[in-house]
Amino acid sequence: MQLTRAGAGELELVDREIPVAQPGEVLVRVRACGVCRTDLHIVDGEMPVVELPIIPGHEIVGVVERVGDGVSDVKAGDRVGIPWLAYTCGECSYCRSGRENLCREARFTGYQRDGGYADYAVADSRYVFSIPDAYSDADAAPLLCAGLIGYRAYRMTGDTKRLGIYGFGAAAHIIVQVAVHQGRQVYAFTSPNDDAAQRMAMELGATWAGASTGPPPEPLDAAIIFAPVGALVPEALSRTVPGGVVVCAGIHMSDIPSFPYLYLWGERVVRSVANLTRQDAIDFLALAPRVPVNRALADLRAGRVSGAAVLGVAS
Ligand SMILES: [Zn+2]
Ligand SMILES: [Zn+2]
Repeated sequence: MQLTRAGAGELELVDREIPVAQPGEVLVRVRACGVCRTDLHIVDGEMPVVELPIIPGHEIVGVVERVGDGVSDVKAGDRVGIPWLAYTCGECSYCRSGRENLCREARFTGYQRDGGYADYAVADSRYVFSIPDAYSDADAAPLLCAGLIGYRAYRMTGDTKRLGIYGFGAAAHIIVQVAVHQGRQVYAFTSPNDDAAQRMAMELGATWAGASTGPPPEPLDAAIIFAPVGALVPEALSRTVPGGVVVCAGIHMSDIPSFPYLYLWGERVVRSVANLTRQDAIDFLALAPRVPVNRALADLRAGRVSGAAVLGVAS
């Protein structure tokens, strides 16, 4: 399924040749691919797309079918995940200081390299990751973006006790489990009257769930905003204690309205997170089975799939 024209708002089903793994690359038979909000931003033209046509999808789980010359760390038959980060230069100041997520030469899966809404994908072997055995293909897929970038955002909140989470989609669904596992109190903010999301947050261990337009019962030490809604930035700041951080985790957000300086005063911090590093992937994929992050169980309890949608292969 490819995006043929910028801002087309829909994908087109096409037949393509099976791609060939160049030196350093692997050819992966796609078993499952998560559907991320970033895909919608790309398809709807909210993010500039320069390389067209492009196949979206950057939460890919598949099996290596062939390896290109010079690939030794991955072999045919291995089950791997292909995340958003597809390539970095390895030489710039960012790459050399553990911040390859900010590399200017970075390329991204499903955006500048064809992604996983397809039967096959090729990837640089240095940017694919082994998937923990405990996870099915479909359950592992959301870990690769919602999980990885959610985890990066979560780590930016530091060692806090009361953590607010704004927007209860796939990333929040995963991160609330990690936060509760690590002894944090989670305050889940959803759209007003979204009782189902609030119920799911409580089932996953949140201390409190309520409307994003109102105050939590206790002030927050930190907050993560997963919803692409700029108005939530002053809202979250106003609920956060001095010295607290508000992390904007999305790649796209509507404009942030102006707000009183008092909301920022007291050494409060607003920051974004961008992309992921390979170390994020290594750390999170080791942690997830220990929590355990468990999508299927929560979906079963809630009786529906609202946390994460995944495209699968009928077997
Ligand atoms: Zn994503
Ligand atoms: Zn670089």
